[in-house]
Order: sequence, then structure tokens, then C-alpha cells
Amino acid sequence: MSIATNIAKIREQMDRAALAAGRDPSEILLCAATKMNGADNVRQAIAAGVDCCGENRVQELTAKLSQDAYRGAPVHFIGHLQTNKVRQVVGKVDLIQSVDSERLLQAIDKEAARQGIRQDILLEVNVAGEESKSGFTVAEVGKIMEQMYLYGNTFVRGLMAIPPICQNPGENNKFFQEICNLSVDITAKKYDNVSVDILSMGMSGDFEDAIACGSTMIRVGTAIFGARDYSVK
Ligand SMILES: *Cc1c(COP(=O)(O)O)cnc(C)c1O
Repeated sequence: MSIATNIAKIREQMDRAALAAGRDPSEILLCAATKMNGADNVRQAIAAGVDCCGENRVQELTAKLSQDAYRGAPVHFIGHLQTNKVRQVVGKVDLIQSVDSERLLQAIDKEAARQGIRQDILLEVNVAGEESKSGFTVAEVGKIMEQMYLYGNTFVRGLMAIPPICQNPGENNKFFQEICNLSVDITAKKYDNVSVDILSMGMSGDFEDAIACGSTMIRVGTAIFGARDYSVK
């Protein structure tokens, strides 16, 4: 299957899921999770109309930026970002989806101030409280929102969630629903430097469920590019 064919199929599934939930399909964006895919594949995905690309690793981001691989589409950072690498990401991407600690938020704001820019971010929510994952708890998200007035060079555009790997359809719906409810609470409260319009949730295995629960951006790798070969390098 070609990348373009895969994307066309995903678009159909997205549209169907949106309509089934009584939603407007145009309000849901497709982010291609491009990790371990070279510039050629990235270009094919952009040509086939993905809304943005999401990169996980700083090294890959830097390499593909230097190859001008993302021309024609916004690029997001979606992986765990170490504070000592913020200079390589802030100002280089349209959105950092994976802000998973207060320390990282501070480092991003400081670097954005140094560059004289405003960096858009999402807060990553560890919605199932998994030990192995970073991210804020639902309670911590509220606390960060109250403190966002302190971060004048950073703007929270929404929330990102990676729920547990699910074995059965519908298994993650309670988590997707919880994120959606959280976003409704935040929007009602009106914080400085916060405007929640992006809910980034849903991957290859569960994006239709995520859309049913209110996702506005799905991040899809495998269903676009095929299985990743982790044995290479
Ligand atoms: C790899 C990755 C995805 C895409 O996962 P697939 O199951 O391949 O669709 C989405 N989000 C993040 C943060 C990822 O690292």
C-alpha cells in the first residue's frame, strides 16, 4: 500500500467516525507521526495532505529540518523532550505537544523569551497515571493552568494524551472522555496564556474511538507508513 492510499483510507475512517459522532469532519486534524521515516516518506505524506507532521526525537527533527523535509506542512514535536535540548526545538516547531513537566515548561519559556518569540505548546496528560509514562496528572494540569500567567512567552493551545496500549476497541474511551471533560473545565475558567482548542489524542489503533470522544487531532504513524523496524541501527 502506498502512503497516499493509506492516508486516503484514514481520511475516510476519520470522516465516518466524525459523522457518526455528529461532528464536523473538518474540525479533526491528521498529524503524521514520522519517527523513523526518512525525508522521502515525510514528503509523500505531506503531498497526500496530512495536516502536520509530528517528530519524536530531536536528532531526527534536526536532520529532517536541514533536508527541508517538512516544506508545506507545520511540524510538531511529540516525543519526550529533555530540558538540555530545548534550544534545538523551541522556535523550530509550530507546536510542542509533549510538555510533560513544570521544569520543561520553564525551560521552554526561558528559551522562547531569549528568542523573543511565543512558543505554542500542549500539556501532556498522563491520563491513566502510568508509572512508565511522563506527563501531568489531571489535578496537576489545573495547577499549571493557574500559573500560566507567569509564562509570558509560552501559550497553551490544548492537551495531549497517550492512554495505555489497548487490547480491545473502546477500552480507552474513559480516558479520552476524561481529557475532553478536563478541556471543558479549563475553557470555562479562562486562564492567561491558555486557549484550549486542540485535543491531541488517538493513534493508529484507537483514533476512531478518540474522535468519538472529542479528539481534534489524531497522531498516526503505523497506519500511514507501515510498521516501524526497530532493528535498524
Ligand atoms: C509513534 C507515536 C504515535 C503514532 O503511533 P502509531 O501507533 O504508530 O500510530 C503517536 N503519538 C506519539 C507520541 C508517538 O510517539
